[in-house]
Amino acid sequence: MQPALATARRTALDHCSPLPRAELEALAGIPPAEIAGLLSLADEVRRRAYGNEAALEVLFNAKKGGCSEDCHFCSQSARYASDVEPERLQPAGEFVSAAHAAWNRGASEFCIVVAVRGPSRTLLERVCEASRQIKAELPTMTVAVSLGIMQDEHVAALVDASVDKVNHNLETSRRHFPAICTTHSYEERWQTCLRVKAYGLELCSGGIIGMGETVEDRIDFLCALQELEPSEVPINFLNPRPGTPLAGRSLVEPLEALRFVALARLALPRAVVRLAGGREITLAALQDLGMRSGANAIVLGAYLTTAGRPDADDLAMLQRTGHVVPSR
Ligand code: SF4
Repeated sequence: MQPALATARRTALDHCSPLPRAELEALAGIPPAEIAGLLSLADEVRRRAYGNEAALEVLFNAKKGGCSEDCHFCSQSARYASDVEPERLQPAGEFVSAAHAAWNRGASEFCIVVAVRGPSRTLLERVCEASRQIKAELPTMTVAVSLGIMQDEHVAALVDASVDKVNHNLETSRRHFPAICTTHSYEERWQTCLRVKAYGLELCSGGIIGMGETVEDRIDFLCALQELEPSEVPINFLNPRPGTPLAGRSLVEPLEALRFVALARLALPRAVVRLAGGREITLAALQDLGMRSGANAIVLGAYLTTAGRPDADDLAMLQRTGHVVPSR
């Protein structure tokens, strides 16, 4: 067996430990011909943590576009001539209807996403009102929110409104972050993540690969996530959006995308690793393999500004890959 794989196997399976940086680096360097062994190891670690269960999440874009920030990958920034038409914040009743629709499609998690730097008072009140109503009507649905950079009072209000989880992605490494966003800092993101954990909420934090980062950046990114210990890590693959500064970038090679999914599983063996935006276009026919390379969750259907694929296709994929969606 490839020496780096043999070492990783001992750490992950014999000692049930997250892989340290040096072992992640070694696996990031194994040749493509040896990747099958890496994917298989990550799959074994995933099965040990989650058996054959797969978790489904539906995203709800509660206020589209018009964002003040300049994240270079994002078509919701007001700074770019993208194809996204800004929309006003939707009424709380729309959030609740969307949560019921998500539940009826089999989702166990409903994430309210808003394209903002951080929540205004009106926005926060609307989200809290919706969360209370959703939890009253669908008590076992996990309610997640993604509201940007937050201070203590914002997070405290979410706790009071029975929100379960906050998504706040690191997006990439600390070193690479200034190349993809200049209107806020990595440190602001980091502090928001810490705040979410300090208030006892579940943290969902991941990012996007394919934004010009190096292999070292990807390892830095995973090591930062190890430090944060999120309960969930969403992995997005850049789907270059017209009009954004990253519009001309190439897609991540499918095998490299799968390698990253496997590394994420081995870095964070107990986290939910969710395949998210860009998976259809990047992995294409290899999406099934993505679910056998360490991932145990997907975003179902549409993303924030891009279409997903029909639910039936994803449910058929999960059946092919031996996953079951637990009853809720
Ligand atoms: S990623 Fe979020 S904060 Fe950045 S531009 Fe898009 S909506 Fe705004």
